[in-house]
Amino acid sequence: STRDTESLLKEANKSILFTTNRPNLVMEKGKGMYLWDTNGKKYLDFIGGWAVTSLGHCPEVILTALVQQSAKLINASPAFYNVPMIEFAKLLTDKSCFDKVFFASTGAEANEGAIKIARKYGAKFLNGAYEIITAIDSFHGRTLATMSATGKQKWESLFEPKVQGFKHVPQNDLIAIQKAVSANTCAIMLEPVQGEGGVFELEKNYIRSLRELCNEKNILLVFDEVQTGIGRTGKLFAYEHYGIEPDIMTLAKGIGGGYPLAALLTKEKFDIFEAGDQGGTYSSQPLGMAVGKAVVNEIIDKNLSKNAEKQGEYIRHQLVSIASKFKLTNIRGKGLLIAFDLPVEKGSKVVSECQKRGLLINSPRPAYIRLMPPLIVTFPEVDEMIAILSDVLTEVLS
Ligand code: PMP
Repeated sequence: STRDTESLLKEANKSILFTTNRPNLVMEKGKGMYLWDTNGKKYLDFIGGWAVTSLGHCPEVILTALVQQSAKLINASPAFYNVPMIEFAKLLTDKSCFDKVFFASTGAEANEGAIKIARKYGAKFLNGAYEIITAIDSFHGRTLATMSATGKQKWESLFEPKVQGFKHVPQNDLIAIQKAVSANTCAIMLEPVQGEGGVFELEKNYIRSLRELCNEKNILLVFDEVQTGIGRTGKLFAYEHYGIEPDIMTLAKGIGGGYPLAALLTKEKFDIFEAGDQGGTYSSQPLGMAVGKAVVNEIIDKNLSKNAEKQGEYIRHQLVSIASKFKLTNIRGKGLLIAFDLPVEKGSKVVSECQKRGLLINSPRPAYIRLMPPLIVTFPEVDEMIAILSDVLTEVLS
């Protein structure tokens, strides 16, 4: 180890603003499916930076893109086009049903852009309609507008006053959403698979009915694919599973493979911003553009969407094989976005015991475990994960 862990943790407690619970360890390096802390302890990573490190840790293609692009141009300001920006926009529009891209740095920021297009569209074409319908238990970000869009009980009374104009409906309930749509609605915004909310997928018929509803009422269908996009669910974009096209899609997390990068994609007819309506100092900055292009090209070239589908099926199959022994239920998910319920609310205990044994998994709520490994995961690594998890469940649940 290069640094003394005790003194680093002491310094962290002193100088890092508290925003989240963190275990007493400090990550130092990563390679592929593995991370190492400052004690030199090695971890098999099934959190994947929260569905971010799509190519695993420190992949060659990101290193090369960063080195080559930073030798050429790091930033020329968003007032100018740059080469990787144009190439990356072409790649994303070629590979999706969308025509236009706006680049940002975080998922929340891409969603803010989507909300702004929807509101501008409502103002221009729907007599000032501004309301956006989202799902209960959805997650769209931690800025004020995206937090207000998020259908999370815990946040209901926090940070008032919220941004107005969001209505939350239960997921997969067509009648509820039909009732919620009014003359004041400009858009419906949904995650195709709720990530933070517990890995719950939208039903195909529900999505198709929503598409029809949006067409009928002339309102926008926005897919937040921040977590589901870029190969995670077994297709490059989750909307491809349903045989429909959203009007707007937002991407982040996996698109940068760990580099802060996000995108908002839309159809030609919603290209309605005027100069200055939307932007940001780091929008389309060349380093991010070069990295994003390299990451997406690698996912396509190596067919990592297919690997996500294959390994996801294998993980669920292996979980099913230990389910009755440990009373695991609701094994669910799509591709490499996977969750299952524990028989008791001991999620954090399971997580910390796995961590002791060198496995990183995630438990957003006490009753369930979520797995989001890099898209490069292989069968032996799945077996290793299942073996450690089984040991831990034997201990924790006995
Ligand atoms: N949308 C979804 C579906 C997400 O899962 C997240 C992050 N968990 C966000 C938006 C926000 O993205 P970011 O943290 O990059 O702002």
